[in-house]
Amino acid sequence: MISREPKASAFSAPPTGRLAPSPTGAQHVGNARTYLIAWLAARQASGRVVLRIEDIDSPRVKAGAFEQTCEDLRWLGLDWDEGPIIQTQRLPFHQAAFERLRSQELVYPCTCTRGDIERAASAPHLDHEGPRYPGTCAHRRVADAALMGVRPAWRFHIPADTPSFHDAFLGAQHLDLHAVGGDFVVWKFADTPAYQLAVVVDDAAQGVTQVIRGDDLVTSTPRQLLLYSALSLQPPSFCHVPLVVGPDGRRLAKRHGDTRLSALREQGVRPEALLGLLAWSCGWLRAVEPISARELLPLFRLDTIPRQPFVLEPALLRGIGYSG
Ligand code: GLU
Ligand code: ZN
Repeated sequence: MISREPKASAFSAPPTGRLAPSPTGAQHVGNARTYLIAWLAARQASGRVVLRIEDIDSPRVKAGAFEQTCEDLRWLGLDWDEGPIIQTQRLPFHQAAFERLRSQELVYPCTCTRGDIERAASAPHLDHEGPRYPGTCAHRRVADAALMGVRPAWRFHIPADTPSFHDAFLGAQHLDLHAVGGDFVVWKFADTPAYQLAVVVDDAAQGVTQVIRGDDLVTSTPRQLLLYSALSLQPPSFCHVPLVVGPDGRRLAKRHGDTRLSALREQGVRPEALLGLLAWSCGWLRAVEPISARELLPLFRLDTIPRQPFVLEPALLRGIGYSG
């Protein structure tokens, strides 16, 4: 049973939550729902909010997306106390953590191409990390990298047991990382940090105690827990919430029409109208009616959010005055 009250007792400190958009494209209605939940959870418990722009996936970063993301959040009425922190500016900290993993022989150099790994994979992959890595290079030592002549990627040796965790929305979670994904990349061929490492280093450094994000990332959490432990860092609590999908049940994307927040804004949709739709989809309002983020603070709760993804029918957007 998820209790109605925020988890923290009267004696524990208020949480620090975060919004961690990737400026790889425009923020859409699906992103807005996740940010709203994360923001309300932190603010209802008198917590802080950190805004971190996750721009390490540089080939996919779109010019102007950073400014637009901040504008989208302001339009929604979601504020923050710290940031925007730009992830690529934290490279020295990511590097230091990577060195620490290397010095403990917790990682090894890998020269397999994506094609090599796909050919070795027997099952389709449903995971952020792609197909299961078969461990081809796992016998290598850190020092071997100097003799390899090519720049490797670096993978983390996963231990026999995958850490279980309690998810504030989904409950007890267990995944066998040997079956899903295998040893995962912490440092890429391009000599840049991989998401799993950067997110752990940054969440820890920014004092984040409450991670709320889309459930597409639930399989990343055991990997991140392994990194917290390897780096002797205190992990946050985790909460993964359902995504917004199109009428075809697939994750919201361009094929479902233009659901960018900037497009809604340009058509004159009021943020309160969208927030009312999102609040209704989370079970906090009986009907879709305009409401602000602040007015939602007393209404927020996790246990009314449906377990299934929210299907964004075009009629729902038309209902708030958006024609797409
Ligand atoms: N930057 C990631 C995204 O926008 C979120 C990562 C996270 O919340 O850990 O998908
Ligand atoms: Zn390899």
